[in-house]
Amino acid sequence: MTSRLYLQLTEQFLPAFAKLNGLTRSDNKNGNGGWHVKIYAPLAPEIEHPDGGNAIGTGCSCGVDSMHVYAAHPAITHGCVWNVHGITHDETNDTRNIGWANLLRQAREFSSEVGVELVVGDSNYDRGCFEDLRFDGRISYGNLFFIFALQKLWSRYYVASGYDIAGFDMSGGLLSDPAHYEWVLFAFCSLSYITVAIDGVDRPRIEKIVALVKYPLSKRFLNVCWNINATGRNCSYLCAKCMRTMLELWCTGVLDQYGTIFDVQYFKRHKHEYLAEYYRCLLHGDEYAREMRPYIRRKKIALRVKVLACVIVIKKILRKCLRGGRRDVSRFSPR
Ligand SMILES: [Zn+2]
Repeated sequence: MTSRLYLQLTEQFLPAFAKLNGLTRSDNKNGNGGWHVKIYAPLAPEIEHPDGGNAIGTGCSCGVDSMHVYAAHPAITHGCVWNVHGITHDETNDTRNIGWANLLRQAREFSSEVGVELVVGDSNYDRGCFEDLRFDGRISYGNLFFIFALQKLWSRYYVASGYDIAGFDMSGGLLSDPAHYEWVLFAFCSLSYITVAIDGVDRPRIEKIVALVKYPLSKRFLNVCWNINATGRNCSYLCAKCMRTMLELWCTGVLDQYGTIFDVQYFKRHKHEYLAEYYRCLLHGDEYAREMRPYIRRKKIALRVKVLACVIVIKKILRKCLRGGRRDVSRFSPR
């Protein structure tokens, strides 16, 4: 690693992270106090940036955050997919392989439509470096690995923000999702010739949804689904993320424009199930649900729909009580 990156991490970012999380204590040998963090790696001078290393890259997952990067930064030259996703719940190896194949197919089609070059990075970060890589908590560092592996290519690389700056938190511990502190992490990982930047740092998810309506490709390619199957399409009602995204599209008044990629008719016939999911997330203090609240309050919702939604939430709470309070994320059900 370069000396500059080493100093930025060991003298700035890591001491701050360590202090906020109580990871190490000062040995105070020199009376200086402080949190002393070392990285054992050979040091190199700044890498000379070659002519033509001016690419602007970003990921190509086609989720809300990812697609917002393309809508907001038309100068993007390269779309990227890195095989660093890992597991969201308890997906089998076969399921993970299907997910990777789906991601590749979708990225090829999308990058071709946008007119950017596609960069594919396969790796054994999952099931190699980590036995079972968890998506939450590791994806930021996986992204950084690939960005720096190709550092002579980039002048700038945008990472889609998972949370806006209101969700900034560096004190959640080692296993917390780095998306909460990427805004600082990436600033310290930027060097003289490469900037790792966050897109949408001031935009909550619901505002990204509103912005995406003006980006026509979102109506053909937006893909948020946690349910991995051979079709690679959004399930619309079998995973919490599809339900949340459809709610966001509905409460901002644009769901009908996304009928090609979501089952809008199912939503209209089963609105109570989606409302129940919104209530459930509110009860959990979910920030995406809180963002939706002012929009949903403005919607006219029949009393019958609200009552049916409450019945579903009560049933879910009772089922959770019967499980001894344990969450059962692997068997998500809209009802
Ligand atoms: Zn889904």
